[in-house]
Amino acid sequence: MQTFVYERPATLAEAVALLDAHGPNARLLAGGTDLIIRLRDGSARPGVVIDVKRIAELHPAIREDDGIVTIGATAVVADIAASEPVRRHFEALADAAAVVGSVQIRNRATIGGNICNASPAADTAPSLLVYGAVVVAAGPKGTRRIPIDDFFVRSGVTTLGPSELVVAIEILVPARSTGAVHMRRTRRRGHDLASVTLCCSVDDTGVTRLAYGSVGPRPVLVTDETGVLADPDAPDEAKAAIFERMFAEASPSKRSMRAGPEYRLAMLRVLGNRAVRAAIGRLEAKGRVEA
Ligand SMILES: Cc1cc2nc3c(=O)[nH]c(=O)nc-3n(C[C@H](O)[C@H](O)[C@H](O)COP(=O)(O)OP(=O)(O)OC[C@H]3O[C@@H](n4cnc5c(N)ncnc54)[C@H](O)[C@@H]3O)c2cc1C
Repeated sequence: MQTFVYERPATLAEAVALLDAHGPNARLLAGGTDLIIRLRDGSARPGVVIDVKRIAELHPAIREDDGIVTIGATAVVADIAASEPVRRHFEALADAAAVVGSVQIRNRATIGGNICNASPAADTAPSLLVYGAVVVAAGPKGTRRIPIDDFFVRSGVTTLGPSELVVAIEILVPARSTGAVHMRRTRRRGHDLASVTLCCSVDDTGVTRLAYGSVGPRPVLVTDETGVLADPDAPDEAKAAIFERMFAEASPSKRSMRAGPEYRLAMLRVLGNRAVRAAIGRLEAKGRVEA
């Protein structure tokens, strides 16, 4: 491993000043579950590593105020999976957080690191897209809010500026009753990155939102407002036609060692069908509780 200077700022202003001073020679470190591997194998060779875990403004709290749930960038996925507001309002995000890596990884891996690493297979990405999450970023010009669909570019690349860092994720509590699930396909049980990830939500007006990942350079969000997917009695051919349109942007790499493109595309349709059914089931279960 190449030697580097280790910095541990206590405030956001200090961290931004360090990023500004060192430019592309600096890398942020949160849980380190992605970065440490890259430092070890030499695919990342920063001169300065800036540890963000002690920055007060990025604190790992998860709180609900005025219909918005805010998750601090350094919240680990184990805490997100167990969080009461997340489980109540964003069950698919809790599902996704619960399947990241292993117990050890989940207790270390932060949500900020998961989205900033921008792996197409990142498990939290599809549910954050479906729930319309907003990334709160801070940099030399202050704070800005980036809709998560405008955040991902391709593997390892986001729309964050060179001196910006993620402070938190904000998610608006859905106004309508909604059922949602996260599903994924892995090569084997146990911990593994997904060959396909998919999140689906169905609301009580019949709008279906799907986001899928690991089948292209970035996760994709699509919506069906016809009500066909959400209608359990709609003919299979009508649903298949809608899935064709929704999955049109899937373009899995031929070079991936995890699964071939044909398999991923086939599994995307299998997971799509399963997830819609499961999301409707969750929506109906909520209706029964509320009635
Ligand atoms: C064995 C193993 C299994 C895994 N399984 C899964 C899995 O099933 N699903 C999955 O999604 N991932 C998985 N991962 C990947 C990884 O654990 C996650 O992506 C994790 O959420 C990364 O978070 P971190 O805090 O460890 O990030 P770090 O490694 O600290 O950082 C990752 C990247 O994000 C940047 N970064 C971190 N925080 C910020 C911030 N606040 N602002 C701006 N940039 C930031 C860093 O500079 C770095 O480029 C696995 C990893 C391992 C080693």
